[in-house]
Amino acid sequence: MPSILWFRRDLRRHDNPALVAALDAARDDGDGTVVPLFVLDPRLCNAAGDTRRAWLSRSLHALDATLGGALVVRHGDPTLLVPEVAAAAGAASVHVAADFGPYGATRDRAVENVLAASGRRLERTGSPYAVAPGRVVKGDGTAYRVYTPFYRAWVEHGWRPPAADPDAWPDWRMDPSGPLACDGIPDAPDVDLPPVGEAAALERWDAFRIDGLAAYGELRDRADLAGTSSLSAHLRWGEIHPRTLLAELDGSPSHTVFRKEIAWREFYADVLHRAPESAHTWLDPRFAAMEHDDGPGADDRFEAWRLGRTGFPFVDAGMRQLLAEGWMHNRVRMVTASFLVKDLHLPWQRGARWFMTALRDGDLASNQQGWQWVAGSGTDAAPYFRIFNPVTQGLRFDPDGDYVRRYVPELRGLGGRSAHEPWTQGQLAPDYPDRLVDHAEERDESLARYTAIKNP
Ligand SMILES: Cc1cc2nc3c(=O)[nH]c(=O)nc-3n(C[C@H](O)[C@H](O)[C@H](O)COP(=O)(O)OP(=O)(O)OC[C@H]3O[C@@H](n4cnc5c(N)ncnc54)[C@H](O)[C@@H]3O)c2cc1C
Repeated sequence: MPSILWFRRDLRRHDNPALVAALDAARDDGDGTVVPLFVLDPRLCNAAGDTRRAWLSRSLHALDATLGGALVVRHGDPTLLVPEVAAAAGAASVHVAADFGPYGATRDRAVENVLAASGRRLERTGSPYAVAPGRVVKGDGTAYRVYTPFYRAWVEHGWRPPAADPDAWPDWRMDPSGPLACDGIPDAPDVDLPPVGEAAALERWDAFRIDGLAAYGELRDRADLAGTSSLSAHLRWGEIHPRTLLAELDGSPSHTVFRKEIAWREFYADVLHRAPESAHTWLDPRFAAMEHDDGPGADDRFEAWRLGRTGFPFVDAGMRQLLAEGWMHNRVRMVTASFLVKDLHLPWQRGARWFMTALRDGDLASNQQGWQWVAGSGTDAAPYFRIFNPVTQGLRFDPDGDYVRRYVPELRGLGGRSAHEPWTQGQLAPDYPDRLVDHAEERDESLARYTAIKNP
């Protein structure tokens, strides 16, 4: 009997414990054939924008190529299709990496129940994290709500070394006709993306490890420089596992800073796993009472933000980078998110939804908790009164204005730092919009709204 390997967020062959488990099962139960399956679930695909759909499509092509063209892609509801493929293949077990997201965990339980009704098993081996969400707990068994102690306990807990490749790869052979027929990998929207897939992820990691990691601690906040790894979309699709990265880090300061960033991803997955409702609602419930703007004026401001036309160059550069590339530097994510919540007084959920649509690394845990952090309602909430100033942030993290000029063509005529303050040279940037709001006034307004919920 063959086994099924159901790929979801683990689109790779190497360091893949679920693959090893699928192969072991296939050898125990039969001739070692593993049927690789991916189900294109409309519930997830419909929420993704062009860049994420393009990434997925290219990643599936890359995976299929490494599997000798054997990947079975089906379109539709996994609770129907996974059991159907398992039955058609005559498989006793379906192997997955555990999904800890709210939708994925519920879906997997449903699939597990349907499989069990016909005597088949859903086997979970590994997860997209070095340490599975829910594992790192305080001495009294409760969860950490603050990052730094979580980080210490996470390091202490430790993680397994990368999974060894099987001695021999599975026999992916299968009958391409009949019930295992494949719906095919969907066409990719025509979007510019860096190289996608497992080989590209490993190359990116190698290049960053050799050329970027030593300076990471120093440069990672600079929006104008390529000082970060750009691995987020590869990690999001599991083209590389965080364990693969962690295994090559030592105790040097820069490696430690990078390990801490990987740990933020793990922490946020843990927070979402324990509080699935925080994908939509304020983790700190006091913030549900916060006054937010709505109506046509608020809608217009949201559109100006989304399209990068707020008149604040650092914010606009970030939002246009997101539109153009489906990616944005972390510092700029913080500043643009803060601008939406604290200068435009819109709820974080609205911005988070747009980020999730547009980001190629869109990940529910990191995105929603990142937004909640900025909004002051999440874990480790920065004090609400520390409101990012979009101009001084730009001057600090894009000191020569290069990042702004790269994404905002109207400002290319302004040299050096003046690109961050075009209003001082009005006639030199006639096509660039006026500032949408007065930052100092909106800062006061935000603080007043916060005081109202703090002292109701
Ligand atoms: C409002 C907001 C929304 C965000 N949305 C997402 C998202 O949808 N998907 C996503 O992967 N990251 C998100 N982040 C986190 C962070 O911005 C990106 O992970 C990072 O910019 C990706 O670039 P990189 O791979 O070059 O990061 P590097 O600096 O090279 O970091 C290495 C890896 O560590 C992880 N990491 C780094 N910083 C964070 C962080 N603050 N939170 C969680 N993980 C982190 C990522 O997996 C990243 O690839 C968000 C941050 C904010 C403030």
